[in-house]
Amino acid sequence: MRENELSGLMLDWYDDNARQLPWRVPPLEGKQGKKAEPYFVWLSEVMLQQTTVAAVKDYFRKFTSRWPTVHALAAAEDAAVMAAWAGLGYYARARNLLKCARIVADQHQGSFPQTEAELIHLPGIGPYTAAAIAAIAFDHPATVVDGNVERVMARMFDVATPLPSAKRALAIHAATLTPAKRPGDYAQAVMDIGATICSVKSPQCGICPWQHDCTAAANGVQEKRPVRLPKPKKPTRYGIAYVAQRSDGAVLLERRPDSGLLGGMLGWPGSDWGDDPQNTPPFVANWTQLSGEVRHTFTHFHLRLSVHVTDVEHGVNPHRGAFVAASEFRSSDLPTLMRKVLVLSQKAAS
Ligand code: SF4
Repeated sequence: MRENELSGLMLDWYDDNARQLPWRVPPLEGKQGKKAEPYFVWLSEVMLQQTTVAAVKDYFRKFTSRWPTVHALAAAEDAAVMAAWAGLGYYARARNLLKCARIVADQHQGSFPQTEAELIHLPGIGPYTAAAIAAIAFDHPATVVDGNVERVMARMFDVATPLPSAKRALAIHAATLTPAKRPGDYAQAVMDIGATICSVKSPQCGICPWQHDCTAAANGVQEKRPVRLPKPKKPTRYGIAYVAQRSDGAVLLERRPDSGLLGGMLGWPGSDWGDDPQNTPPFVANWTQLSGEVRHTFTHFHLRLSVHVTDVEHGVNPHRGAFVAASEFRSSDLPTLMRKVLVLSQKAAS
């Protein structure tokens, strides 16, 4: 196959069609010598792990206006960063983000390492993110393979082996096409093609720069690639959330342990999550179970929470959590699950 021609076609397409993203250097400015800001590339790539571009944009702007450099982020309070991340999900990313920022600030004088081999040793940076930072921030010819790139490669080479078994073969195909010239722009171009033209359900092959070389399109099977095995059914777990409001408007919250789901985030005290959760309120009171429940889906299971509420006077001494004054409480500091609990309790109160 004409690897250089194919990457050239892709770069030409990118020059005219690159998505405008707040962390990205447009191709024309790149050609004029403007370099990507490694801090922006790293921050955006961590945010984009398992999250859509549309969801990430506002968070990226919020973070970079509040913490414009890796030194500023490294000096931030943990609680402030966790609150700013609330709603974006996969909270281990936020904890690793802070750890990584502090290592880069303290041990690398604020400059990110440039190679995949060095980057991968930093917290929260796996093979994909290391390759993306090396390529996009430093123009190293690293092969960047995310879900979009896998789909494009499975179609270009008509790979019929199901995912995830096909991952290695798809990465090898992607590596054969990665050019030495403008590898960062090329990586972003293939990701853009996958996100826009070579979409999951209806690829628009008629406007694709690779339409004349795509094996799956030639065989008429592009919509059947990549092949995926059926996903196992997610189990359902159950739990109880306790919403206590004091007469002065203060609400009882607790910070979840660092390890585990929603680690380090603020939330309502709650039971364990399982088949048969124990009713373990944070203090003795007249708790009322609301009608309805909160439903939320994590990566590996569905969760159904019943919500118990109580109104209390001053002087209550909970054995877990602490009351947060109404003036200091912001629902935006809560992760999505905990916001859903709040919404249900507010509906019941109105
Ligand atoms: Fe995807 Fe169609 Fe382009 Fe092939 S020709 S890479 S299936 S959009």
